[in-house]
Amino acid sequence: MTSYLIRNAQLLGGDPQDILIVDGVIREIGAGLTADADVDIDAHGLIALPGLVDLHTHLREPGREDAETVLTGTQAAAKGGYTAVHAMANTFPVADTAGVVEQVWRLGQASGYCDVRPVGAVTVGLEGRKLAELGAMHESAAEVRVFSDDGKCVDDAVIMRRALEYVKAFDGVVAQHAQEPRLTEGAQMNEGQVSGELGLGGWPAVAEEAIIARDVLLAAHVGSRLHVCHVSTAGSVEIIRWAKGKGWDVTAEVTPHHLLLTDELVRSYDPVYKVNPPLRTAADVHALREALADGTIDAVATDHAPHPAEDKDCEWAAAAMGMVGLETALSVVQQAMVETGLLNWEGVADRMSHRPARIGRLAGHGRPISVGEPANLVLFDPAYRGTVNPESFATRSRNTPYRGLDLPGRVHATFLRGVPTVLAGELVEPGELG
Ligand SMILES: [Zn+2]
Repeated sequence: MTSYLIRNAQLLGGDPQDILIVDGVIREIGAGLTADADVDIDAHGLIALPGLVDLHTHLREPGREDAETVLTGTQAAAKGGYTAVHAMANTFPVADTAGVVEQVWRLGQASGYCDVRPVGAVTVGLEGRKLAELGAMHESAAEVRVFSDDGKCVDDAVIMRRALEYVKAFDGVVAQHAQEPRLTEGAQMNEGQVSGELGLGGWPAVAEEAIIARDVLLAAHVGSRLHVCHVSTAGSVEIIRWAKGKGWDVTAEVTPHHLLLTDELVRSYDPVYKVNPPLRTAADVHALREALADGTIDAVATDHAPHPAEDKDCEWAAAAMGMVGLETALSVVQQAMVETGLLNWEGVADRMSHRPARIGRLAGHGRPISVGEPANLVLFDPAYRGTVNPESFATRSRNTPYRGLDLPGRVHATFLRGVPTVLAGELVEPGELG
């Protein structure tokens, strides 16, 4: 294997250090290392972070390869600084059997850009009626530990209870998409002043909060692990804070877009802003930032949701919900959390690598940058200023809400077990991996 000497990288934003990578492992760390390596990388001004881990990615394969494939999605992940992603189960067919999760896992292995951990569906066909084969998915080669019907809510309390009980046996976790279905029938955007003015069907905060409240109580009752997907309201934060205060095993994630954007953008009627859960108010954004800073919300998760142009370039009511996010997540977090003084880079490493890896029980990821650890690293240039150009994305889809927006920072390099997947901001060619 090629060895690398990264020179003068700011470890978690601290003092410049050299990092020697040999055989995929961090061999030495220190100032002015004299070791010989095959390749020297000048990392002056760059911040070294552990490879990012996403708990919530839609890779769309199998079934919607027109939107994304495991290859293009993991390339987008690498460009965003990720070394591991959890692939959501709402594919065609649904990832509700050992066969489908193994297929996704193998496609990830073959891509070489990023580790792919398949998420298993909680219920057969995401239909909410019958538990899927959770045990078989866990025992498969994919070793599934995270289960979710994401896109749909496990709204039946008995099914949710059984799922929580079942995953306990192997330290799994149920990741809930909290959306009370009856309260959100016909919902098009956040319920509030803007929805009233625009005459669009409202999506009340209580539809999210009621499910989270029920689920934290259920998780406590059965003594199991609950993870709450894409928390979007101030009230949800309060419930999670209360549950954590009780000592219950509840974790939560927030998306980059819910940390930056508000429902005021819907006034444009541009479906690029249509997402599930919807963009909320400035007060919600404020509460989410505070909760991520104080650790009530454990992780940033992208909810990267690629859609082909024909599903987005239409009228608001007909448009698909979701935004791509892998390639802009770190920049959005820099703007929303670091430049506001709410998180330092150590905090970013914790919320985007350490904690998501721990929630997914992912071995070899989310580790400290220390001697002997696998070299899963990202070198990030926080001083870079640029305009988001979706045409330069690796993802197959272009539905980004940040088009034309100036965002800070850029991923300079990503290493997956010592193999660069991105160098000088560009993807490494598939033939040159490994
Ligand atoms: Zn969701």
